[in-house]
Amino acid sequence: MKTIYLDNNATTQVTPEVLSAMLPYFGNFYGNPSSMHSFGGQVAQKIRLAREQVAALLGAGPDEIIFTSCGTESDNAAIRSALATQPEKKHIIISRVEHPAIKSLCSYLATQGYRITELPVDKSGLLDLENLDKALTPDTAVVSLMWANNETGVIFPVEEAAAMAQERGVLFHTDAVQATGKIPVNLKNNKINMLSISGHKLHAPKGVGVLYIRRGTKFSPFLIGGHQERERRGGTENVPSIIGLGKACELAAQNMETENEKVRILRDKLENELLKKIPQSRVNGDKINRLPNTTNISFEYVEGEAILLLMNEQGICASSGSACTSGSLQPSHVLRAMGVPFTMAHGSIRFSLSVYNTETEIDFVSEKMAPIIERLRGMSPYWNSEKQACQSQ
Ligand code: PLP
Repeated sequence: MKTIYLDNNATTQVTPEVLSAMLPYFGNFYGNPSSMHSFGGQVAQKIRLAREQVAALLGAGPDEIIFTSCGTESDNAAIRSALATQPEKKHIIISRVEHPAIKSLCSYLATQGYRITELPVDKSGLLDLENLDKALTPDTAVVSLMWANNETGVIFPVEEAAAMAQERGVLFHTDAVQATGKIPVNLKNNKINMLSISGHKLHAPKGVGVLYIRRGTKFSPFLIGGHQERERRGGTENVPSIIGLGKACELAAQNMETENEKVRILRDKLENELLKKIPQSRVNGDKINRLPNTTNISFEYVEGEAILLLMNEQGICASSGSACTSGSLQPSHVLRAMGVPFTMAHGSIRFSLSVYNTETEIDFVSEKMAPIIERLRGMSPYWNSEKQACQSQ
C-alpha cells in the first residue's frame, strides 16, 4: 500500500539534495570542526557555509545564527536567556496556543516564581495586539509569540508585536518553527530579538535547530561547555545535520515561492472537496492569515483518533487535534483556546502538505474521507440522535 503523507507539520521528508550534501560527513569527512588540523578545518568550512545559508534565508548575519539540537532547545534557550540576562524581571508573555516547547516551559517557570500571561486568541485563532499592549509591564522580561501555529497554520503578526515590545523595552522571541521555509521570514527590517527554527520541519533532518540572536541582544547560554558557536552553545556540532539544514535553507530561499503556490493549490483543493462532500464539517482557523500547506478540519460527532485509524488503513497519514490524556480524549489546547465547540473539537484532523504531494494523492484522499466519516457517524449515538431530531422536525 502506498503511503500518502499529509503530516508535514509533524515532520518532513529530507530532500534528496539535502541528504546528498550530508552523506560525506557521515563517511570520509568525519573530522571535528574545532580541531586545529586541516582534516577538521574542511568540516569547519562547511559549517561556515551552512551558517551563511541559514542567515541568507532569514535576512540575518551569520554571526547571529546559533546551531542547536532542535526547535525545543532553541525555544528554551531563548526564554531562559531573556530571564538570565534580566534577573530583576519576572514576567513572561506568551499566547494560549503556543507549542509545548514554550507553553510547558512557562508552566514550569511559573513554579519557579515567574508570572506568565497567556494572551487569548479569537475564534479564528487570531491575536488581538491590544491585549499585548495591555499585558506589557515594566516587569516583563520577554514576549514569545509563535510566527505560525502548528495545528491550524494561523499566522500571528509577530513583526508588529515585536515593535510594540521594543517600544516598551521588552525582548521579543518568536517560535518560527512552522513558518520558516513556508512563508517569507525576513529579520532585516523588524525588531525581533530571537527566533527559533527546527530542521526537520523544512526538509532537513531531525536533531538540528537554529536560534537566531539579533546582534546587540544580550545572550546567556543554555548549554555551557566548549567554545563552539562562539561560546553561546557548547557541544560538538551535529555536523551532517547542520550541513543538511544549510542546504535545506538554500533550497527554501530558491524555491519557496513556486513550491508553496503549488502546495496552496493542492491544500485548497483538498479542503474544498472535503467541505463539499462531508456535511457538518468546518475549517478551524483563519483562512487568510494561514500557512499555505495546512488545513485543520473538524468533522462533527466523530473522534479524531478514530478517523486517523481508518485513514491509516488507507495509507493516509495526518494528525488529530485531540490527544489521549489520562484515558480520555481531550481536544487540543489550541482548539480549546479558539472556543471550537466540543462536538467539533473532538473530530478535528490536521492535514499538512508538502511539495512532494500530488494531485492524484489529493483526489484519493478526498474520495476516501467521506465514507470514513460516514462509517464512524453511523456508529455515533450523538450523530444518530441528531439525525432523528432533524427528521422529526
Ligand atoms: N515549535 C513548534 C511550533 C513546533 O511545531 C514544534 C514541533 O512540532 C516545535 C516547536 C519543536 O520542534 P522540535 O521537534 O525540533 O523540538
